[in-house]
Amino acid sequence: PPALQISGLGLQIGGATILKDVDLDVAPGALIGVIGPNGAGKTTLFNAISGVLRPTAGSIFMDGDDITRMSVAQRARAGLGRTFQTSSLFPRLTVLENVRIAAQAAMGGSYSLLRFPHRSDAATVLAREKLHAVGMTHKESALAGDISHGDKRKLEIAVLLAISPRTVLLDEPMAGVASGDVAGLVESIREFHRATGCTLLMVEHHIDVLMGLVDKVAVMYFGSIIAFDTPQQIMANPLVQSAYLGSAA
Ligand code: ADP
Ligand code: MG
Ligand code: MG
Repeated sequence: PPALQISGLGLQIGGATILKDVDLDVAPGALIGVIGPNGAGKTTLFNAISGVLRPTAGSIFMDGDDITRMSVAQRARAGLGRTFQTSSLFPRLTVLENVRIAAQAAMGGSYSLLRFPHRSDAATVLAREKLHAVGMTHKESALAGDISHGDKRKLEIAVLLAISPRTVLLDEPMAGVASGDVAGLVESIREFHRATGCTLLMVEHHIDVLMGLVDKVAVMYFGSIIAFDTPQQIMANPLVQSAYLGSAA
């Protein structure tokens, strides 16, 4: 079955139509970009997929299972992971501790925020492995609140890696990242996708960032997906050009 199969998805909030007839089929293991002008409904779509918002029409299947009415926690247990536009890190904990908490939770242990004397328990080993995968090993002792924007996004990916979700939603991972850090973050995402074999959807405003990274791009416009194709075909699509160019924010 598809990793994600979204059919006729609609979402209204207070009489306003935010999502309308959204259809999307994502193959297992695909890396998908989601673009569209500000306000097109990209974050709302991720909220509907992850269960933060309930759709008013349509259905969402993940790996063949109907998740449309599942809670956020049930979807997370079913293998769905996501990041938010704003950071969800613990700023007063170190980089390593942020990943270790997720590793501990994934291993079924209880949370422990105590400083650990030996630093060689299974959760710490797993956390270090994930930090290594995103190239953050040398910053493990820094406070999460003190690192750069780009490093925060890498750290969020390391936290997700520790949970090993099968399907991952990244909402604007490049937002606010200094231009010199974008290439490194792209590499972290590529490595994350390669190492886990997960299905990954990422919102990004700039299609050039997606070229050479994603398999396909979904274009959102006024609450619908108006095109779903390879980045090259999307770039050449006149409908996309008239809808998207000039209105990106
Ligand atoms: P994008 O992520 O593509 O920038 P959003 O999904 O954040 O767009 O928003 C899509 C539209 O839905 C916007 O017009 C926004 O104002 C509206 N919207 C989003 N969330 C809510 C909400 N909780 N209540 C009312 N309107 C909302
Ligand atoms: Mg927005
Ligand atoms: Mg958004």
